[in-house]
Amino acid sequence: MPRTRETVLEIDLKALTHNYRFLKSRLHPETKFLAVVKAFAYGSDSVRIAQKLEALGVDYLAVAYVAEGIALRDAGIKKPILVLHPQSVNFDMMIRHDLEPSLYAPRVLKEFLETLEKHNQKDYPVHIKFNTGLNRLGFWENDVDFILSQVNGKKDIKIVSIFSHLAASEDLNEKDFTISQIKSFEKIASELEEKLGYSPIRHLLNTSGIINYPESQLDMVRSGIGLYGFGNEAEIDKQLKPVATLKTVISQIHKIEPGETVGYNRAYASQGYRVTATLPLGHADGIGRHYGNGKAFVNINGKAAPIIGNVCMDMLMVDITGIECKECDEVIVFGKNPSAEELASTANTISYELLTGISQRVKRIFIE
Ligand SMILES: *Cc1c(COP(=O)(O)O)cnc(C)c1O
Repeated sequence: MPRTRETVLEIDLKALTHNYRFLKSRLHPETKFLAVVKAFAYGSDSVRIAQKLEALGVDYLAVAYVAEGIALRDAGIKKPILVLHPQSVNFDMMIRHDLEPSLYAPRVLKEFLETLEKHNQKDYPVHIKFNTGLNRLGFWENDVDFILSQVNGKKDIKIVSIFSHLAASEDLNEKDFTISQIKSFEKIASELEEKLGYSPIRHLLNTSGIINYPESQLDMVRSGIGLYGFGNEAEIDKQLKPVATLKTVISQIHKIEPGETVGYNRAYASQGYRVTATLPLGHADGIGRHYGNGKAFVNINGKAAPIIGNVCMDMLMVDITGIECKECDEVIVFGKNPSAEELASTANTISYELLTGISQRVKRIFIE
């Protein structure tokens, strides 16, 4: 890659291939793989990532909302797409774009069936989500008979999968709770299957589930963060490759005298002679104010430069005293060093939030 001359998010599709193969290698060959590409594929680019995953042979894709699924269909993506959190106002659009809903509550199932009646469909694929302890979305165990009463004998709908989501798959201190979720899901799934008379695909594990509970991989797994290079565990992170690298450049260098201040609200007050660099990257790009005032560091020519003062909308300032660099030099905000996980932790957050927050204003470039 030539050095960048502006702020860019570099997206390494070779790293995506590596991560996909690594995660697959932890699974039985027959276990299906659903790739989660919601939120612009964790802040990268959902179309390019989905195209690559489709070429790699992924079985399923998932997004959170209907509009995200339509964007993939408009780009020519053919794989089945599960919409994890559809809103009923979009059910018509969803059916017209061949998108498959997660149905998670009696109201939602009823509304979907009503919408289906207006379309001439046979065996329209739907996915039934059960709540086993996350208490976010999902039918409860005692809804099984209601679900069956709604779908049995209906020709226009087919339950192609049943699933649940773990609350703490990355946290081995919560192993007992996770195992109770797994058991509870297996019980619900068996009851539903028995009464339904056929076996929908069962799926439960996210990325950390694949790492920590592979014995419960069931028929399919759902992975997001692992594909993008993070496993919520240092040992696993070493074996994955970050897909996204956020790079920027030095716009201007200033020499600051003792007692001067830098940035809005004069939040940084210099104790001595300092050298600062202004970067074309701010909270509107996804690097929020919580990274400012000495919390986070960026990488300039291999050296760590702290963000000083308040992060502005379109700019931030770093202390480069003692770092050999000049205007137009490249700056790594996150990638290999620091990783998105390391940078996120300086602001008490996680790689998921940092990655998905990189705004659409940042140009995406791709490494094939
Ligand atoms: C986002 C999401 C996933 C992916 O989780 P990762 O931790 O990124 O692998 C899986 N399942 C559901 C229901 C989700 O909402």
